[in-house]
Amino acid sequence: MRPRRNNPIKPEMNEECLVWLEGYKYEGYKYEGYHKYSELYVDFSNERDIELFKSETGIEIGDKSFLLIKNITSEHILRRDSYYSLNLEILKEKKNYLYRPINNDDEEMSAIFAGVIEFKNQSTSELLNFLSKPHRHETSSLSKTTSIDKISDLLPNEIDKVKVLNVLQGNWNELKYNEQVKIVYDIGGCLYSSMNNNVQRWKQCGDKYSLYKPILVISHWDVDHYITLVDISEDELKNSFSGVICPNHKAGHMATQTWEKLKRVFNHNAIKIDIPSRKSKYVLNELFSEGDKIWLYIGEKNSNRNLSGIQVFVEGEYKDCLLTGDCNYRQVENILNLNRQSANSTKPIAFVVPHHGTEVYPSNVQLTLNKNSNSVAIISVGKNNYGHPSNNTIKYLSPYFGNIKKTDNDGDVEDRL
Ligand SMILES: [Zn+2]
Repeated sequence: MRPRRNNPIKPEMNEECLVWLEGYKYEGYKYEGYHKYSELYVDFSNERDIELFKSETGIEIGDKSFLLIKNITSEHILRRDSYYSLNLEILKEKKNYLYRPINNDDEEMSAIFAGVIEFKNQSTSELLNFLSKPHRHETSSLSKTTSIDKISDLLPNEIDKVKVLNVLQGNWNELKYNEQVKIVYDIGGCLYSSMNNNVQRWKQCGDKYSLYKPILVISHWDVDHYITLVDISEDELKNSFSGVICPNHKAGHMATQTWEKLKRVFNHNAIKIDIPSRKSKYVLNELFSEGDKIWLYIGEKNSNRNLSGIQVFVEGEYKDCLLTGDCNYRQVENILNLNRQSANSTKPIAFVVPHHGTEVYPSNVQLTLNKNSNSVAIISVGKNNYGHPSNNTIKYLSPYFGNIKKTDNDGDVEDRL
């Protein structure tokens, strides 16, 4: 049954509280046939769901809306990037769990989390009732905007440097020309980071950006790729960027709020790219804009929105560069084939490794790269639960690259293009 959603704030009796599952830490199939999750990262679907949650459970939610839910068992495998209905009945039983609110000045987690719900008993019944077909995509997805014709006007003519900032388990890349930042690709950081941390990092970059007003590209709407935006004021945004380009994804409350803020600030220069349908057996990507030396791609439709993100290819004078966000290796291969076949493919490349160095499956891909001692692979990674970067991936990449750098060891990594 589709719940009524016309009443914007005041919850109705027996309404569902919809939440967005951003990610989780999975422990495996244990505990009497249940799937065990030690952590769920959950946002609300919208304001109305927050109000319903507050009034039914008595738990206060401040201006950040993510919840970290610990010790969950589920009959079903949970799917990230999906909406679920939260079982408020379980949360009414206070003896089931401990709740710890997160304050804005807390040293951890205050960038996005409102609080932590920790269940005492690992075999609690399900907190999340799976909605077989997650609904309300349309009303909760980022709303449509202007045409994409003007993107090439926003793109710089030339790029001569790439910088991968060390933001722990997140992504934040810069493309520069003559030391002027021209494109900021992702503005992320660690899920657990504090608000103060993010504000500090922004202070180091914001002034520089206000001199050159780069264009901001958000690869996809995972929080580790946009978290810093959450606490940047509208004035600061206006002073720092000339516009923003991002994919048109379904999203939770925080991403939707962030997009609304960007739209208010940048107006027609807040550009959302619709996701193309898949044309072949595999999810690939499509060119949607090109400058003189820059090509922007968008991934095709997929339930995993990592694969529906934006990638940027740059042809530098000495070296090419590929920014990947969290895309997969087939998409990387596709972009390399499209851009480096006619050019001499012995040209070196600065390759920002997809998805923080996640596992690569070599039988699925054949990178069209030649070994070049000037080629560098850069992994944007910090402490994490996902096994990033994978040793197999590093082994797989090493024949192609003279150097493999990791931000957790090397800090910020810069390379001349
Ligand atoms: Zn990521």
